[in-house]
Amino acid sequence: MNPNNFDFDTLLSKLLKNKADSPTPSPKSKQKKSKDTIQILQVFNNLPYACIVKILPPPNIDRVYYGVVDSKDKRLIFKSEYPTKTILSAFSIHQLDTTEKNLRFVCWPVKKDKMGTPTYYPIALDHIKQLGVYDLQVGFEKKADLKLFAQVKPLIEKHYGKAALPGPINVREDRYDIYYPHSNTMHLSADRRNIIHELIHTCRKQLLFANKKCKYNEEAEMIEEFFAEGVCNIIKDELNLSPNAYLQKGAVYGSTQGYNYDFRIIDGCLATQNLQSTTGGILTLETSRYYLASEAYHKIAVEYFIRTGKYFGKEFNDIYPTGRL
Ligand SMILES: [Zn+2]
Repeated sequence: MNPNNFDFDTLLSKLLKNKADSPTPSPKSKQKKSKDTIQILQVFNNLPYACIVKILPPPNIDRVYYGVVDSKDKRLIFKSEYPTKTILSAFSIHQLDTTEKNLRFVCWPVKKDKMGTPTYYPIALDHIKQLGVYDLQVGFEKKADLKLFAQVKPLIEKHYGKAALPGPINVREDRYDIYYPHSNTMHLSADRRNIIHELIHTCRKQLLFANKKCKYNEEAEMIEEFFAEGVCNIIKDELNLSPNAYLQKGAVYGSTQGYNYDFRIIDGCLATQNLQSTTGGILTLETSRYYLASEAYHKIAVEYFIRTGKYFGKEFNDIYPTGRL
């Protein structure tokens, strides 16, 4: 999505010629539901956590404009999307420069540069008192996925805890495995190669590791991936103690590269904090960084368990989100 390729404020002032045309909040019950308006199907999470809005746009429109407004109709964010995308990119409290508590999501259908009737949805600030207590729900449909998930879920809860935020995760078939927090969707390849790794990410949902500005970026990615891959390896090892249709029989995952991998690797390019850096010249270094960091996680988790009898990832998650937000 590239919403910033033109000046929306200028565009909006042209489209809304006078104040009478300005978006006026309407109570939900009185809201006009015509075939020309956008229907809001679902809003995942409440602020301050990332809101993801699922919409049903009317047919034959060119674009969807959407944003968040305060009680004086001041637009705190304003974005554009093609109507083909029905799950809009997440927005969080950190993008909204306001202290107001009663905010509204609003979206307009746009056809031939004309904005149609807006649809409003209240998204009041709701401090979720408890984080990390939710059942991890994933929209799996394939029999093999459901079977693996039933085996893996108790292990995730044991080593990593419950889901940080409520709500189900969407699943989409793809050519690669990745979890996109902005759409709450897990993309999976046919062979499900990284399905457990992605499930670890989905546990945190929109509370993935972030930097101080609450932005998930390349510096934060290192830590998020280091946890995901490390926990994934620990879970795979425990899963492989029981019969399963997913892992190679007898394989050990905690130390894929050997127990002293972190000691043996002295390449300076591994010292970078940027997981996707090409320092050192080859992109395959990304893989070695994953392994290195996951091995480090494994060592920390094992040592923590020996000393305390507790699971490092689970304990960490209990403290992490509430301590930061
Ligand atoms: Zn990952």
